[in-house]
Amino acid sequence: MASSNSSESVHPAGSAGGEQGKDALSTTRIRSRPSPPPVANSGTGRAEREAPNVLVVDDDVTVLRAVGRALRSKGYFVVTAQDGEEATRQIVDHVFDVILSDISMPGIDGIQLLRQVREHDLNVPVILITGEPAVRTAVQALEYGAFHYLTKPVANEALEAVLEKAVRVHRMARLKQQAAELLGNANALGADRAGIEASFDRAMQQLWVAYQPIVDPRTQTVFGYEALLRTTEPSLPHPGAVLDAATRLGRLEELGRNIRERAAAPMIQSPDAGRLFVNLHVTDLLDPLLSSPDSPLASISNRVVLEITERSSLDEVRDVRARVAALREMGYSIAVDDLGAGYAGLTSFTLLEPEIVKLDMSLIRDVHQNLTKQKVVRSMAALARDMGMIVVAEGVECAAERDVLVDLGCDYLQGFFFARPGPPFPEVKW
Ligand code: C2E
Ligand code: CA
Ligand code: CA
Repeated sequence: MASSNSSESVHPAGSAGGEQGKDALSTTRIRSRPSPPPVANSGTGRAEREAPNVLVVDDDVTVLRAVGRALRSKGYFVVTAQDGEEATRQIVDHVFDVILSDISMPGIDGIQLLRQVREHDLNVPVILITGEPAVRTAVQALEYGAFHYLTKPVANEALEAVLEKAVRVHRMARLKQQAAELLGNANALGADRAGIEASFDRAMQQLWVAYQPIVDPRTQTVFGYEALLRTTEPSLPHPGAVLDAATRLGRLEELGRNIRERAAAPMIQSPDAGRLFVNLHVTDLLDPLLSSPDSPLASISNRVVLEITERSSLDEVRDVRARVAALREMGYSIAVDDLGAGYAGLTSFTLLEPEIVKLDMSLIRDVHQNLTKQKVVRSMAALARDMGMIVVAEGVECAAERDVLVDLGCDYLQGFFFARPGPPFPEVKW
């Protein structure tokens, strides 16, 4: 057990002041450490580089010292911490090339530490060590993105081999990140589960809802607003990335609830704002809160249109008809979104019997210059009207598209031409 919670800094052999003391490490010491010590060339190709920083975490001080000594002799710059709390402070203040941690520790354990590490650094490899091997913890460790899982006692050679590899992988990960940033496609979904979880948690906290008007260009009135998910989390830069992260984490229900709660508030406060169009993921249909009177949308249900996309199949939802019937009973309307976006068949029509259809943007783009698109839109609009449905065309970007769509029989229009999505409620340009 830990006898003290001070941290220990172990300098690589030969560095100035390179004595492994029990003195607490200061930020300045690691940041302003002397130029990298001459490192013995171990044949690993690491010699010419700066000594890698390793954080070693173990509540057993004997292990801590022994590992520190062994790594120091191999040219690592070692920082030690005797519990998860101390380690957390270290990872906030310093950048490490690799972290080596015991799994079972009092307080913050190795898995929790791994999750906290990912709040600060999506890439740093974490190697977890345990005294009591158990399949469950091993699986958990790897699922949360541990780089490697070792069982005590760990032979020095094995540890070094894993560390060497971890340092290289980390350098590669950082280069990949730099490349992604350079090419403008930085995205946390390349990260492991703990990394995605950290990004997603931040996204959930910063989540906000943008509104885009859906208008009647004939009367120049606003029919309603579509609520669109937004977050300021840079690693999840568009709604699709947030939805992908939620899917991978099994947290779609939580995301949907968060969006609906935030989307409802400004509409409840503005009784004259018209309809609220809310996008549903197909699995949202399974959420009991959606069809409950406690839903944030329930008090304005007769102003709410639930959009369900044609892009994904309704197969995974049991009792779709019954669920939709219950929602309709509560006052909600249903829209089929992205019609014409390529999903074959008309199951969504027969199952959902929507009040509203939204034509996909791909049909709308340059419709004024494309006779085939005009034919398709005209037929779809006529057919929908025959079935008593309202037709919305979305993605309208210019006056020419607007005018043709009105002629082709679309009831309402939506798109950047009228207004970009924004905080409640964007002004409309006609
Ligand atoms: P969507 O439901 O088809 O939403 C319309 C998308 O088109 C929005 O992109 C909107 O910003 C964009 N848009 C509107 N007018 C124009 C235009 O004139 N030109 C162009 N190029 N784009 C236009 P956004 O907000 O990036 O959303 C993308 C997709 O993410 C949505 O497509 C929807 O499938 C999904 N999504 C967004 N918010 C939510 C949400 O709250 N829940 C769920 N489940 N999905 C959402
Ligand atoms: Ca939509
Ligand atoms: Ca759409």
